[in-house]
Amino acid sequence: MLSDARLDRFARQIIIPEIGGAGQVALDGTQVTLVGLGGIGSPVLQYLAAAGIGQLRLIDDGDVELSNLQRQTIYTQRDIGHAKAVAARRWLANFDSEITVDVRDDRITAGNAAALLEGSGLVLDGTDNFATRLAVSDSCVALGIPLLSAAVGRFQGQVAAFAGHLPDQPCYRCFVGDAFDNDDCDTCADDGMLGAMAGWAGSFAAMRAVSVLLDGVAAIGDPAFGKVHMMDGLKAEMRSFRVVKDPACKGCGLPG
Ligand SMILES: [Zn+2]
Repeated sequence: MLSDARLDRFARQIIIPEIGGAGQVALDGTQVTLVGLGGIGSPVLQYLAAAGIGQLRLIDDGDVELSNLQRQTIYTQRDIGHAKAVAARRWLANFDSEITVDVRDDRITAGNAAALLEGSGLVLDGTDNFATRLAVSDSCVALGIPLLSAAVGRFQGQVAAFAGHLPDQPCYRCFVGDAFDNDDCDTCADDGMLGAMAGWAGSFAAMRAVSVLLDGVAAIGDPAFGKVHMMDGLKAEMRSFRVVKDPACKGCGLPG
């Protein structure tokens, strides 16, 4: 049951028939892990916290820099030089002190991903390099956790949910292949990015997260695993396509 204060806080959301009281209670009982607290992670954190996700784990090993403020909307000038994970926790504490938060000021790798992601109901990856994304994806498959992947570069965005642990569903590695395992470059620094483009991808990812989390609970629930949404900020268009499971995938394929 939600308290009167919580019912009041989420009234505009509970009144939506596709979410309702059952959906709100389910969100309250959910744990989501955010990997990467940057241009995508910022709006994701804001909208998932605003939606009433009860428990959030925040993972990022970076510090806030002046050049982040153009797109990483949870940080302000006073956060410059502070760890993003700590600054994000401070934002969350000011926003909603009832959310249980757990922060990890760590860089996620293939070696530590399982320990960092274990226990998550959903992992939302907003990191900026393939090596990390593939490590997160492989770990989610191994742990049986759905993954929501969101990426953006200049005016292109990409958002997709994966459930490679399920026998008929692809993982992120099925989508991008193995070629990027050692690619840890920060493409954002090279390519540049309009802040609002990261915001679009991040807020859409937060919407998709709610749909994944409320599958089987409320009418908005529709995980659409394996469906990739491509967003074009210059044409202001979005198109979608489905990825199929690769039987030979290193992340989720059948052994042997
Ligand atoms: Zn796969």
